[in-house]
Amino acid sequence: MLKFVDIAAKRPDKRQALERRRDWREVYRDFAARRAVEQASRCSQCGVPFCQIHCPVQNNIPDWLMLTAAGRLREAYEVSSATNNFPEICGRICPQDLLCEGNCVIEKGFDSVTIGAVERYITDTAFQEGWVEAARPALERPESVGIIGAGPGGMAAAEMLRRRGYQVHVYDRYDRVGGLLIYGIPNFKLDKAIVERRAKLLGESGIEFHLQFEVGRDAALADLRARHDAVLIATGAYQARDIKVPGVGLDNIFAAMDYLTASNRKGLGDAVPDFDSGALNAAGKNVVVIGGGDTAMDCVRTAIRQKAKSVTCLYRRDRVNMPGSLQEVTHAEEEGVSFAWLSAPEAFIGEGAVEGVRAVHIHLGVGDASGRQTPQPIAGSSHILLADLAIKALGFDPEDLPLLFAAPELEVTRWGAVKIDRASMMTNLDGVFAAGDIVRGASLVVWAIKDGRDAAAAIHHYFGARAVPLARAV
Ligand code: FAD
Ligand code: SF4
Ligand code: SF4
Repeated sequence: MLKFVDIAAKRPDKRQALERRRDWREVYRDFAARRAVEQASRCSQCGVPFCQIHCPVQNNIPDWLMLTAAGRLREAYEVSSATNNFPEICGRICPQDLLCEGNCVIEKGFDSVTIGAVERYITDTAFQEGWVEAARPALERPESVGIIGAGPGGMAAAEMLRRRGYQVHVYDRYDRVGGLLIYGIPNFKLDKAIVERRAKLLGESGIEFHLQFEVGRDAALADLRARHDAVLIATGAYQARDIKVPGVGLDNIFAAMDYLTASNRKGLGDAVPDFDSGALNAAGKNVVVIGGGDTAMDCVRTAIRQKAKSVTCLYRRDRVNMPGSLQEVTHAEEEGVSFAWLSAPEAFIGEGAVEGVRAVHIHLGVGDASGRQTPQPIAGSSHILLADLAIKALGFDPEDLPLLFAAPELEVTRWGAVKIDRASMMTNLDGVFAAGDIVRGASLVVWAIKDGRDAAAAIHHYFGARAVPLARAV
C-alpha cells in the first residue's frame, strides 16, 4: 500500500474517440489484473477515509483496495458486495469525481485512487469466477412484500428482502427489469448485459417479477396493499420538465426519455416504429440538445453514434457550472459534440417541423439564495442554430402518484415527491414505504441502491415490530 508516490494514477485503457463514435461499447476497456492490483496499492489506508464517507452506500473502500492489492480478490468481493448490491454498476456509472474519488485525500498533488475502476474489476472478476450467486434464504417467511418499480431502488430492496426470506413480488410497467439502467442509460456507459445478468440472478433467488404491469392501470395502490403485507413504492421520477418558448409544439422536438428509450430499445433488438420511421433517429440530422445534465450528455453522445450530421449541446451556464459529471462532458467533447455554453433557447422555428433553434447568449449575474449565479440574456445576441431534431433534456419531476394510484390520501411534497418519515422510510399510509427518485427527485443510481437497502431494513423492522411467526424453510 501507500504506493501513490511512485505509481501514477491510471484508469483502464480508454478507447479512442474515433472508435467509440462507431459503436455502442463502453468507453473503458477492462482493467488488466496487474493494473488493478497496482492501482489498488496506491491507497494510503487513511484512518478516516473520506472516500468512504462520501460514498452514499459507505463502501468499505480501504479494505477492498487492500485485499485487491494483496491479490485476495474473493475476499475483496465479499467486502465490496456487503454494502452494495450492484458494485459493478456503480463502478461504471457513479460520478466518482463528485463522490468517492473526488474526496480521496491523495488527490492534491497526486491523482486520486481509481476507486470506481477497481470496484468494477472486483465484481466483474467475481462474475467470471462464478462467485456471484442468487440469494438463498435460510428461512422462508410468510410475509409478502409488493414492490412497485424494478429500477435500482426496487431491485436492491427486493434482493435484501429476499435474502431475509420474504416473499417478494416486483411490479413494473416496462417489459424488462432495470428501470433507467435499461431504458435511460445508454450502452456506452452501461452495457445492458451487465443489468440483465443481475435481473436473472434476482429471478433465480425466487423474486417474482410482474412485468408490463402498471399500477394505476392494472391495479390501484389499494389492491396491492390488500394483496401484500407491505408495499414499497420505487417508481422513479419520469415527469419531463418542459420549456415554454414559441414553437415548442413543432414536429421533431422530443423529450429526452422518448429519444433515449427508442435508441435503447433498438439496441436491444425491439421493433421501434418511431425510430424506423426516422423520427427518433438522429442519422444525417442537425441535432440540438437543450440541457446540461447527465441526461443531456447521454443524448448528445447517442446522436453522435447514430451518425448525426452535427450535434450541439445548448446550455445556459458554463462548463464549470454544468450539473453533470465533467468526465461525461469530456467524453462528449472528444467524440465531437459542440457545446454552446452560456446560451438559452428563445424559440423553435420552422414550418410544421423544427428547422432551427433561436438562442440568446447569457451573462451569469449575481448569485441567488443558493449561491448559483443567475443567467441573464444579453440583449441583441439572438442567433439561429440549425436543427432537424431538437431534444429537451431539462430534468425530471415525480409523476402525480396520488392521482395515478387512485390514492389521494398518499402524502406528497409540493414537488410531487412521496413524503416519508426518514427513520421508518414509511409514508403516511401504514405498511407503505417509498425509496429512490420518487422520494429524492431525479438523483443517482447509488442513492437509489442505498434507499432500497434502507427500505428493506425498515420493512424488516416493521414486520419484527408486528411479530409475525416464521415459517420453516422449504
Ligand atoms: P428508476 O430507475 O426510474 O426505476 C423506476 C421503475 O419504476 C421503472 O422501471 C418504471 O418503469 C417503474 N414504474 C414507474 N411507474 C410505475 C407504475 N405506475 N407501475 C409500475 N411500474 C412503474 N445515475 C447515475 O448514478 N449515473 C448515471 O450515469 C446516470 N445517468 C442517467 C442517465 C439518464 C438518461 C437518466 C434519466 C438518469 C440517469 N441517472 C444516472 C439517474 C439514475 O438512473 C436514477 O437516479 C435511478 O435509476 C433511480 O432509480 P429508481 O429505482 O428510483 O427509479
Ligand atoms: Fe464510489 Fe459509487 Fe463505488 Fe461508492 S458506489 S465507491 S461512490 S463508485
Ligand atoms: Fe485510500 Fe484515498 Fe480512501 Fe484514503 S481517501 S483510504 S487514500 S482511497
